Amino acid sequence: MSNIIRLYDHKAQILPSISPLLLTRDICRVVDEMIKLANKKKLVDHSDFAEVVGVLADYEYESEEADDCGGYCDIIGKRIVVTNSDSNDYHKVALCHELGHSIQVITGHYDKRSMLLSDLVSEEQQADTIGYYLLRGLYPATKPNTEDFQGYFSVAGMEFLNNWYDGFVQNDLFKNIDS
Ligand SMILES: [Zn+2]
Repeated sequence: MSNIIRLYDHKAQILPSISPLLLTRDICRVVDEMIKLANKKKLVDHSDFAEVVGVLADYEYESEEADDCGGYCDIIGKRIVVTNSDSNDYHKVALCHELGHSIQVITGHYDKRSMLLSDLVSEEQQADTIGYYLLRGLYPATKPNTEDFQGYFSVAGMEFLNNWYDGFVQNDLFKNIDS
């Protein structure tokens, strides 16, 4: 159990772009439970993503050809989709981010009743932060890259999100982002 992350350990090495302040106590508890379950079921550093997603989140796993995003979480169909990329390490980062969304669903933090862009950005930043801790717990041999966790902390990432929800989001962050 030595690779269980102590989420409240403020000395833990974290990337500059993510913040444990984005996590709530209930999210930390579920992250911790998921990592404990992965250890118990021998799913740490496991390459069969379908098994990881099935056992840990009770979601279906799919891989998809797409180059506009790393993946997505279909909370209605209970599917986690990770898109193909050249980097196996990036697959793991994307998988952990999408598992982060499944944890937000359980804890009531993936609330699609609000379609304010600022709320959606906060949810993505939180999913990135959860994903970071999951990556350390589930794939401890994979070194997290800063750039894999700072997308939604950048203006470009926020613009991407605004375009992703194309017309369904109320943009309260930018004016004239197309100009
Ligand atoms: Zn996301």
